[in-house]
Amino acid sequence: MIPLSEPLLRGNEWKYIKDCLDTNWVSSVGKYVDLFEEEFAKYIGCQRAVAIVNGTSALHLALRTLGIGPGDEVIVSALTFIAPVNAIKYVGATPVFADSQADTWNMDPEKIEKLINSKTKAILPVHIYGHPVDMDPVLELAKRYNLYVVEDATEALGSEYKGKKVGTLGDAGVFSFNGNKIITTGGGGMLVTNNIEIADKTKFLCNQAKETKPNKEFYHPEIGFNFRLTNVLAAMGLAQLEQLPDFVRARRNNAALYYRYLNNVPGIIIQEEKPWAVNCFWLFSIVLDETSPVKRDELINALAVKGVDSRPFFTPVNMFPPYKDCLGQTPVAFLLYQRGINLPSSVNLTQENIFHICSVIAEFIDGRK
Ligand SMILES: *Cc1c(COP(=O)(O)O)cnc(C)c1O
Repeated sequence: MIPLSEPLLRGNEWKYIKDCLDTNWVSSVGKYVDLFEEEFAKYIGCQRAVAIVNGTSALHLALRTLGIGPGDEVIVSALTFIAPVNAIKYVGATPVFADSQADTWNMDPEKIEKLINSKTKAILPVHIYGHPVDMDPVLELAKRYNLYVVEDATEALGSEYKGKKVGTLGDAGVFSFNGNKIITTGGGGMLVTNNIEIADKTKFLCNQAKETKPNKEFYHPEIGFNFRLTNVLAAMGLAQLEQLPDFVRARRNNAALYYRYLNNVPGIIIQEEKPWAVNCFWLFSIVLDETSPVKRDELINALAVKGVDSRPFFTPVNMFPPYKDCLGQTPVAFLLYQRGINLPSSVNLTQENIFHICSVIAEFIDGRK
């Protein structure tokens, strides 16, 4: 089976993890936590990075740090993995769902303004499958209405918006190092920001809101969390980060091959890259158009029979029971969900793999015409 997205661990992972074990620095302090944060901030091009136990907790902390809580509303992409929406609930706030653009599949800035009211405190755009959200109009609205912007950049590490890495455009940005993400620590996350106060507060809340007095007595002025990333995992993260430029290059090369082999296949829309965007192509994806003679699940099954793993798009989160009564009409997200498919996108895919995948798609559609 050609998997959807698998990690590649061929750098200094063993060496750095062994160093943690050899030196006994296995827990939540140690040089790799600091190094991983510093090097990550450098790569992303921002002031500070704070390592966190996973992406979901990083989103939770970002909202908590910004003081978002009960009675507040946060506008979030409907077409997303559920994590950012749950994070809004964890702080006691209410998600309001933004519909997708038909072409980038991301939050549609033109549909956001009418969702803003006196309770709105933040906008949480998700850069879906690697393609950046059109951030300028989002940031402009945020400025006009005095809202925070927290970017869920978990699927877009290495992607750029108008020359800047995503994650650095709003007040805070969040990344994930889950097993299938662009780099992995098995599980892990990072919050990035250009605001030193936000970074310090996040680091503080992440570590049980702990202050240490001169006599080493712990003091906790508020309720914090234990959301720290361990030194062992940070060591793995640092090794992965060293390979990140190569990983992004490989994923973009995958996309270029997909474009080449799928270009003339009728009935499908291929994932775009806007002129203002660099897409890391976390999951290269297609959407069946209205002329397509095949249904989403038929194609997914046809691919599976030929040894190719694929996946339908995320279910818009407002279709799930906990969120079905939330505000926000999302017809485009719903259509994309019915027709979208993620294709294998691992760093180590070969040209033959991609040719095979595209041939299966082309032949299956051709057989139905
Ligand atoms: C992967 C992911 C997350 C967070 O992932 P963790 O598994 O908690 O690290 C958050 N948002 C989106 C959109 C994701 O795809």
